Amino acid sequence: MKKLIFLLVMLASLTLSAQTTYLQCGAILDTKTGKLFPERTIVVNGNKISEIREGYVGDKASARIIDLRAKTVMPGFIDMHVHIESESNPKAYLQTYTLNEADIAFNSVGFAETTLRAGFTTVRDLGGSGVNIAIRDAIAAGKIKGPRVFTAGKAIGTTGGHADPTNGYREDLVGDPGPKEGVVNSVDDARKAVRQRYKNGADLIKITATGGVLSVAKNGQNPQFTLEEIKAITQTAADYGYHVAAHAHGDEGMQRAVKGGVKTIEHGTLMSEETMRLMKEYDAYLVPTITAGKEVTENARIEGYFPAVIAKKALEIGPKIQDTFKKAYELGVPIAFGTDAGVFPHGENAREFVYMVEAGMPVLKAIQSATLTNARLLGMQDSLGQLSKDFLADIIAVDGNPLENVNLLKEVTFVMKDGEVIKQ
Ligand SMILES: [Zn+2]
Repeated sequence: MKKLIFLLVMLASLTLSAQTTYLQCGAILDTKTGKLFPERTIVVNGNKISEIREGYVGDKASARIIDLRAKTVMPGFIDMHVHIESESNPKAYLQTYTLNEADIAFNSVGFAETTLRAGFTTVRDLGGSGVNIAIRDAIAAGKIKGPRVFTAGKAIGTTGGHADPTNGYREDLVGDPGPKEGVVNSVDDARKAVRQRYKNGADLIKITATGGVLSVAKNGQNPQFTLEEIKAITQTAADYGYHVAAHAHGDEGMQRAVKGGVKTIEHGTLMSEETMRLMKEYDAYLVPTITAGKEVTENARIEGYFPAVIAKKALEIGPKIQDTFKKAYELGVPIAFGTDAGVFPHGENAREFVYMVEAGMPVLKAIQSATLTNARLLGMQDSLGQLSKDFLADIIAVDGNPLENVNLLKEVTFVMKDGEVIKQ
């Protein structure tokens, strides 16, 4: 008898955990073929898509039915470049001294949820204090709401370089940050920094191959690693199954990064045609971050928003990013959707789609870069980036046809992640 009751309880809990949801969709976008299929029902069981059926089906008595008949339904978007820990504001440089890790963590709870509600169900976090690793875990454990996070932890740079955490500090506060803090100055340091990130629990590696706009340093584009250091990083990263992303504005540092085996070039601002060809040859992807370029340009015009040394660089580099993207796209450089959210307010990630389309990319291609392409780069091509049987139920929708009006992507009206309705 006891055994029978046990079995019945087990059976009941199984049925409960595998609750079926029917999403009745006006149209679904098949990212693989690029086609819109009208009147489909997506059947979700647990956290996965179990079936996609023609027409509107679903039994009200035994399952949950969600009416998306006025909407176009797509797989959740993936942003390959966010900073989930922070958001640009005029006090950001002072906050380096005033925020504790606990403050950063609490701030990021809101950033993560805002990102998810905008339809970005997965993000690649390209650097913060290391709190980003805890954020990833808290989201995965269901403690807070946010996108699925793949994180680089703390980015790796060189002394005085873009990712040196003590740039601009008063002398007695500078110290001598090393591989643990993400500052390397030799091949040995480079290997150690990668292994340290493995130990910390990162999912990938981010380096700052050239100077950057937002660091308190003079040069926004000079090369900051030797080719040997970059190779040591990518080779060590490969031992741990990591890919490497490289922040780069200047051409020389970008070329070294591509030749050194980096998978994605972030920003790519001053990229030459030679480097564009090299990227095709090495199958390296450009992550455009046009939105960040526009945002820093605007902020630099606000008196006192940035320190003077940064405002100058922002006005030089920011306005060029969209044009470089246009040239790279026309030349056939592989493109991976990414925005640099955090440099602009979280949740506005879809602005990037609009800027990509402005620069000549068809809406469908932009959506494919944010779904199919990015899923593949993250090694998730069998579970993310498509609405298909056995894929994770990361599903979003907009009112109307986004292929005819890209602006609709900025107003996502339905979000499901892992089978859980987040926004309806
Ligand atoms: Zn960034």
